[in-house]
Amino acid sequence: MLALWLEDRSLRIRDDVPRPSPPPGEALVRVRMAGICNTDLELVKGYYPFTGIPGHEFVGHVEAAPGHDGWVGRRVVGEINAACHTCATCRAGRPTHCERRTVLGIAGRQGAFAEYLTLPVENLHEVPPGLSHEAATFVEPTAAALEIQRQAPIQATDQVVVIGDGKLGQLVAQTLALTGCALTVVGHHAAKLALLSARGIATAHAEALAPRSSDLVVECTGNADGLALALRLVRPRGTVVLKSTYAGNTTLDVSALVVDEVTLLGSRCGPFAPAIDLLVRGLVAPLALVSARYPLVQGLDAFAHAARRGATKVLLVNGPL
Ligand SMILES: [Zn+2]
Ligand SMILES: [Zn+2]
Repeated sequence: MLALWLEDRSLRIRDDVPRPSPPPGEALVRVRMAGICNTDLELVKGYYPFTGIPGHEFVGHVEAAPGHDGWVGRRVVGEINAACHTCATCRAGRPTHCERRTVLGIAGRQGAFAEYLTLPVENLHEVPPGLSHEAATFVEPTAAALEIQRQAPIQATDQVVVIGDGKLGQLVAQTLALTGCALTVVGHHAAKLALLSARGIATAHAEALAPRSSDLVVECTGNADGLALALRLVRPRGTVVLKSTYAGNTTLDVSALVVDEVTLLGSRCGPFAPAIDLLVRGLVAPLALVSARYPLVQGLDAFAHAARRGATKVLLVNGPL
């Protein structure tokens, strides 16, 4: 099959990757569309050693699911962590942190930038007919955005700041706006800030915000400047959520965290069912975030486009564009 292949920090197109066959409990999914995420761009830069097919945001059709034939033909998205269910972490009810987990297109499992992938049947969620392929590829990052609210319950009276107006920051902002909190997004790109304004979400430049005044700050840039700004804006006993993957090490003033009793919260994958529900109801509207679509065979061009300054979501398509 055709696939994008990452090896030694270099991506190439291969047409000789064997089509996977699903092990027991897993389904073979024909990928229809997949989204390029910053994590994929960081993987290429080498933030985590991975050889193989990247890609973890997808929608596709189940072609085979031995022992679970009811899934065949259904259109699905999939949670990306495959857990063992036997280790201490799994038994303690934290399967997304399974010590032996594989992660679609990120760790120990081939990903979605290919014609086919396999995932455990238990990871699959059917996509309702009203949701387009494009919108369905945003289920995974929307779920990740919703994880923030699961970790840090938000009151309507809270002052919340999102740092970063990129594709992740936009989804985080759209989901946080639904809580009714006083929300402001900090960004640099006029076009991206305009997308937020169009949805009634307030935007600002960093200098315009009062230091030490925000109840919750969500850092979505993945760079040290964004983190430093978050720590400047958060109030004593407030919370800073780290929502991005950071390449390399970052230095921070930990004594200020101690003195101000700030909670620092790492945040990763989130719940799929409410993400699907919000997308179906149009309460999260991702299509304005699509910069471009490319056929899978032009995957290298797609990655180059996604890495360009100002680009938002770039989609890879199997079949007619
Ligand atoms: Zn992602
Ligand atoms: Zn486990």
